[in-house]
Amino acid sequence: MKTASLSLPNPHKMTLLVLRDANQPVKQVSVSKPLVIAVPLVALLSISGLIISLQIQSSQTIGKLERQLESQSLRFEAIVTDKDAAIERLQNEVIALSGQSEEMMDRMERVTELETELQKFIDKYGDPEDKSGLTSLSWDEGETLGIGGEFIAVHENEIEQLAADTRDKFTEMSKLLDEMEQHVPVTLKKAKQTQYTISGTPTEWPTLSKRLTSNFGYRTDPFTGRASFHAGIDIAGKTGDPVYAAGAGKVILTDKDSSHGNYIIVEHPGGLQSWYLHLSKISVSAGDTVTKGERIGSLGNTGRSTGPHLHFEIVKQDKPIDPMPYLQ
Ligand SMILES: [Zn+2]
Repeated sequence: MKTASLSLPNPHKMTLLVLRDANQPVKQVSVSKPLVIAVPLVALLSISGLIISLQIQSSQTIGKLERQLESQSLRFEAIVTDKDAAIERLQNEVIALSGQSEEMMDRMERVTELETELQKFIDKYGDPEDKSGLTSLSWDEGETLGIGGEFIAVHENEIEQLAADTRDKFTEMSKLLDEMEQHVPVTLKKAKQTQYTISGTPTEWPTLSKRLTSNFGYRTDPFTGRASFHAGIDIAGKTGDPVYAAGAGKVILTDKDSSHGNYIIVEHPGGLQSWYLHLSKISVSAGDTVTKGERIGSLGNTGRSTGPHLHFEIVKQDKPIDPMPYLQ
């Protein structure tokens, strides 16, 4: 089909002439006028509608995608912010931990020093025969102190280093604690023994008066006038004056006889005993534990005595010894 021409025999009709090849007859098609206008119009409208609807659809899809992307990127941002915050928090924790480990080391070092002091005290005042001793704990400052906490951690590597140092320090501390756990109870036991020995040694002057009327050793007996051995010291005083335990210990005997009068024997550590004779009153009983300087009775004039006085005696392994070197 090559060309078409129109003729107008009827005002409401349109005639379409279809010219084909030269040897073919002309074909005539009669079409109503409104139809000629309506068909392309409908086609145009439907195409436009299609385009518009496609446009709407695509814009909706794009909008949806945009919103999705936006929310996703917000989520990512939130996650990244969370991570940053977490890292910062961890870094601060590492720094804080490092500080704590420093402080703990200092404190442990002080405890170790105290233990060493205690050991020195025991060595000085304790049993001189017991020299098994404890090796005092040493602490190498250069090796383990003064690392972390002094720089402001700004780099990941630094934080890692700090964490590693702190971990090392905690390991070191744990080792030190193990040692202390072993040593401190032993040291404390020794300190207690030392304290017991110190407080148990009869060194306290046993009454108020300091007036010595008779020394330890050979003397002329006040009753017979003959040479005799005096097993203790005599301290003149007033009847009723307090009599004190010269050292901590256990009362092993309270008794009375014509020679000793009312008397008390206290047992102390190291095979020592202290004897208190001629008392007017006894304030303790056998089996009692007494502390150094505790009142145990009253000065008197009972037994073989010429006047109110305290006969004080120290017995070591069943033999009386001179009490003066003990008394302060
Ligand atoms: Zn005497």
